[in-house]
Amino acid sequence: MSKILLNSELLNKVFDGKDITKEEAYQIYQESESNPFEIYKAAQILRNMNNGKTVTYSRKVFFNLINLCRDTCSYCTYKAEPGESKVSMMSKQDISNLALVGRKYKCTEALFVTGERPEQKYSEARAWLKENGFSSTIEYLVHASEMVLDAGLFPHTNAGNLTKSEMSELKKTNPSIGVMLENSSERLVEKQMPHEFAPSKNPRARIRVLENAGELSMPMTTGLLIGIGESPFELIDSIFTIKSIHEKHGHIQEVILQNFQPKPDTVMRNVPGPEERYFKTLVALTRLIMPKMNIQIPPNLSPDSYPDFLQTGINDWGGISPITPDYVNPEFSWPSIDTVQKNCENAGFELRARFPVYPKFFSMVESNLQSKMSEIADSDNLVSKEYLR
Ligand code: SF4
Repeated sequence: MSKILLNSELLNKVFDGKDITKEEAYQIYQESESNPFEIYKAAQILRNMNNGKTVTYSRKVFFNLINLCRDTCSYCTYKAEPGESKVSMMSKQDISNLALVGRKYKCTEALFVTGERPEQKYSEARAWLKENGFSSTIEYLVHASEMVLDAGLFPHTNAGNLTKSEMSELKKTNPSIGVMLENSSERLVEKQMPHEFAPSKNPRARIRVLENAGELSMPMTTGLLIGIGESPFELIDSIFTIKSIHEKHGHIQEVILQNFQPKPDTVMRNVPGPEERYFKTLVALTRLIMPKMNIQIPPNLSPDSYPDFLQTGINDWGGISPITPDYVNPEFSWPSIDTVQKNCENAGFELRARFPVYPKFFSMVESNLQSKMSEIADSDNLVSKEYLR
């Protein structure tokens, strides 16, 4: 790799295939404050080297299974309280109906999202589970995953902190699961910080979930929430935390970098979202720290500028639904897949639909799920273009 493209010695170290240390990453961050374009350029080159000019997304249906939650995060509007109009408690019939619509729209992913163990706090959640024949949300998730798999969708569960045995059950039907690390700094769970009332967001608990998934060889999606009161150095530490877990187990299939968006009716309503330049720098830095990782930003949370992030090293847009809203960020609708495709083409990229598991992680998935996916996959383990026609 030519060294004339970039000035910094540290950036050239990355091009030589050497890992940068955390201290070096801090240094790059500090140097980039006056000129971020060098690291954007480096991130693009690394993405092109490792991921080519293909950008992926997952065509999904969002199943808002239950949005009551045991915890309270200062920025969350997903969580509902019993009696609120936004409460969602899906019945088996609701699941079956939505799965049919998803199949009709050629979606391949069934994203299951729930609050954190709602039955531990709410009698309404316990009654809902009982009505449907279950005693815990996770039991219901196992059943719901089987239902959507039979309907031709592939489940991806994001239900907070799951135990190892719960994940092991879900591995039978879910090609991958997800839990956001959000940040590895314990400062964010302290008094008056966003996770003060969310014990499940304690980074030690989240790291344990990610480690357990690794021991199960389960493809795992994780990521960071940017702009919730962390320092840039805490974010860099968090990227290194994910890197070291992945180095141990090889199972982190993607890192989502999500920009915080303030919501009315939350404690953090007056906290501005992160500045775009800060967000982009952290995206590019993630590529420098983990050059081969799949790196995603959600396009709906940067509606006016998401194509620009192709210049900072991302290679994935995450789940985009043609039929359901983003229940976590309902005020931000997803762009149409056609628009995303045009924007990718204009920037010189091809947009391709992937399964909830990335092609390189297919071999970690249960063989029956692999066979089911291969019915509609192409030779690159992406969703075949014929299927989507
Ligand atoms: S972000 Fe998740 S854990 Fe926190 S309150 Fe909302 S649903 Fe619960």
